Amino acid sequence: MTTTAVSPVLLLTAVVRRVERLSPSFVRIRLGGNGFEHLGPEGPTLDQRVKLLIPSPGRPAPSALLDPDGWYAAWLALPEADRGHLRTYTARGVEGEGDDRQLVVDFVLHGHGPLGAANPLGAGGAAAGPAGTWAARAAVGDEVGLLAPRRGHEHAFGGIEFDPGAAGRLLLVADETALPALASIVESLPACTRGVAVVEVPDATDFLDVRFPAGIERHWIARGARPRGEQTLAVLRERLDLHPERAVADASSLGPSTDLDDAVWETPAHSSSGDDVTASRRARPRPGDRDTYAWVAGDSDTVKACRRLLVGERGMPRPQVAFMGYWKQGRSG
Ligand SMILES: Cc1cc2nc3c(=O)[nH]c(=O)nc-3n(C[C@H](O)[C@H](O)[C@H](O)COP(=O)(O)OP(=O)(O)OC[C@H]3O[C@@H](n4cnc5c(N)ncnc54)[C@H](O)[C@@H]3O)c2cc1C
Repeated sequence: MTTTAVSPVLLLTAVVRRVERLSPSFVRIRLGGNGFEHLGPEGPTLDQRVKLLIPSPGRPAPSALLDPDGWYAAWLALPEADRGHLRTYTARGVEGEGDDRQLVVDFVLHGHGPLGAANPLGAGGAAAGPAGTWAARAAVGDEVGLLAPRRGHEHAFGGIEFDPGAAGRLLLVADETALPALASIVESLPACTRGVAVVEVPDATDFLDVRFPAGIERHWIARGARPRGEQTLAVLRERLDLHPERAVADASSLGPSTDLDDAVWETPAHSSSGDDVTASRRARPRPGDRDTYAWVAGDSDTVKACRRLLVGERGMPRPQVAFMGYWKQGRSG
C-alpha cells in the first residue's frame, strides 16, 4: 500500500472577504476561500510569515497554475505575465473554522496617498510596489495566491521566529511592516510578561489598537519627516542606559557579520551571513535565567543599527536576539 505524504505547504487561491482601512498607512484584508479549513497555524500566529503571489494586473492569481511541492521552480518557469510577484507578509491572525476560516493580513500602503492612489514618489519618498498597490486597490472578491502552513504541519513549514525561551524580559522593536507581527506576538503573551516595545510608524494616526500586557512599556513613535529609525535608536539608547544589559561584549560572538551590508536575518537558528549559529543554539538560556530576549524587525538599515547597538555595543548574547530585515530601501521583494 502506498501513502501520499501531505505537503506542509498549503497553496491556495485566496479570495478577499473584507477590506478595512485601519489608518492612513494600513489596510487590513481578510482572506478566505476553498481549502482555508486547512489553514495553520493551529496555535498563536506570533510572527508567522506567509507568502503572497500577487497577480499582475488583469491576470489570474498564479497559485492556480502551481503544485505545492516544487511550487517555487514551477512559479519561476511561468511566463513573466502569469508569474506576478512573490512577497512575504505576516499572519496578523487566523480566525474562524471550516468554510469561515480566514487569514488576516495588515498591509502597509507605502508609496500611496491617503485615498490609496498610487504615488510613485509618495510620503517619505517611498515608491509603490506591486503588493502595496494590490492592497491599496483590493476589493471583496479579488484573488491572490497564498502559501501558508498547513494545519498540523506548522513545524515543517516553519516561519515563526519569535522564540524567547526562558527569558524574563522582552525587548520588541518594529517598524510599520513588522507591527503586524509585533501586535500578534504581544497579544499572545501571558499577562505577567515584562519588557519594552518600541514601534515606529509613519504618523501618529498609525498608532493602531494593540492589546499589550500591562508589564510591557510601550513606546509609539511617529516618524514624520525624521530619518527612519532615528527615534527608535534614541529610545533604545535611553532604555538601555536605565537597564544595562550584561556587558559581555564577546568579540568572537559577533563573527564576520558585525556590519552586515545586505538584508539582515539573524536569529538563534539562522544567520544570513553564514555564521555558525550552532554554538549560539547550545547556549540558549536555561529555565531560571532572567535575561532579556530581543526581537527586532523592520527595514534592514534600522535593524542593522539596532544590532550594532545591542550586540556590538551592549554585548547582548547572540542566543537571545533575533534581528530580521523585513525590507530594504530601494529594493523590491
Ligand atoms: C517576514 C516578513 C514579514 C512581513 N510582514 C509584513 C506585513 O505584515 N505587512 C507589510 O506591510 N509588510 C510586511 N513585510 C514587508 C513586505 O514584504 C515589504 O514591504 C515588501 O517589499 C512589499 O512589497 P511591494 O511589492 O509593495 O514593494 P516592493 O516591490 O518590494 O518594493 C518597491 C519599492 O518600495 C520600497 N518599499 C518596500 N516596502 C516599503 C515600506 N514598507 N515602506 C517604504 N518603502 C518600501 C522598496 O524598497 C522598493 O524601493 C514583511 C516582510 C517579511 C520579510
